Amino acid sequence: MSIIVEQVTRRFTSGGSPAVSEVSFQAPRGAITSLLGPSGAGKSTLLRLIAGLEVPDAGRILIDGVDCTSMPVQKRGVGVVFQSYALFRHMTVRENIAFGLDVRGSPRAETDARVDEMLRLVQLEALGGRYPGQLSGGQRQRVAFARALAIRPRVLLLDEPFGALDTRVREELREWLHSLHERTGLTTLLVTHDQQEALEISQHVVVMSEGRVAQAGSPEVIYNRP
Ligand code: ADP
Ligand code: ADP
Repeated sequence: MSIIVEQVTRRFTSGGSPAVSEVSFQAPRGAITSLLGPSGAGKSTLLRLIAGLEVPDAGRILIDGVDCTSMPVQKRGVGVVFQSYALFRHMTVRENIAFGLDVRGSPRAETDARVDEMLRLVQLEALGGRYPGQLSGGQRQRVAFARALAIRPRVLLLDEPFGALDTRVREELREWLHSLHERTGLTTLLVTHDQQEALEISQHVVVMSEGRVAQAGSPEVIYNRP
C-alpha cells in the first residue's frame, strides 16, 4: 500500500462535526484510487491533509511506509493538481513546469532536460514559450500535471482536476489521464463527486459521506451492490 490513512480527524470548528472524522483507508501502489462523495463530504480536506496543506487533529498518514503526518509539504514527495489551474500567469509554460525544481535548487541543465521530458509527456512540446493566458483550459490543466510530475513525486494527488472544464474536454482529459497513468504507473488519488468518472478511471474507490468512509472497494464491488 502506498498511501495509508489511519484514524485521521480534522475539525475546523470546536462545536460542530469534524470535516474529516476518524477516516482510515489505503490506496494501493500504482493504482488510481478515487475519493468519491457529494460536496462537503470532506474529500478536499482529506487530500489537503495527505498533501501536507492541512494538519490533522488526530491520526496518522503514511506514504510508502514513511510517517508523513507532521512532515512539511516539500518533503512528502507529493504532486498536487487542483481544479482551478494554479499556474503562474506571468511565467511561461516552461517556467511554470520548472517551478518546483527551481525551488528545490535543481541545477539549470537538469531542470531544462526535465522540463523537455515533461513537455513531451503531456504532449505540449510546441507550447513551452507560451503564457497560461494563451492556452486552452485543457492545455493549462496538462501544464499543471507536468508541473506536479516534474519533481518526481511518489504519489499524485488530484482534486477535481477536470471540474472546471466543459463536458467534451473533460472526457478527453479523462482518457488522457488514463494513458498518462499507464505510462507513469504512479500511485494516484483522485477526488471527484462524479460516479461515472470514478467508475471509468479508477481501480479502487473510497466513498465518503459526512466526513467518514461509507464504503471502499473495487468499482465493480461498489456499483454492483444491491
Ligand atoms: P468536499 O471536498 O467533499 O466538498 P471539503 O473537504 O471541502 O468537502 O469540506 C468538508 C467540510 O469542511 C465542509 O463542511 C466545509 O465547509 C468544511 N471546511 C473545509 N475547509 C474548511 C476551512 N478551511 N475552514 C472551515 N471549514 C472548512
Ligand atoms: P472544493 O472545490 O475543493 O470543494 P471549496 O471551494 O470548497 O473547494 O474550498 C476552497 C478552499 O476554501 C479550500 O482551501 C477549503 O479548505 C476552503 N474552505 C472550504 N470551506 C470552507 C469554510 N466553510 N470556511 C473556510 N474555508 C473553507
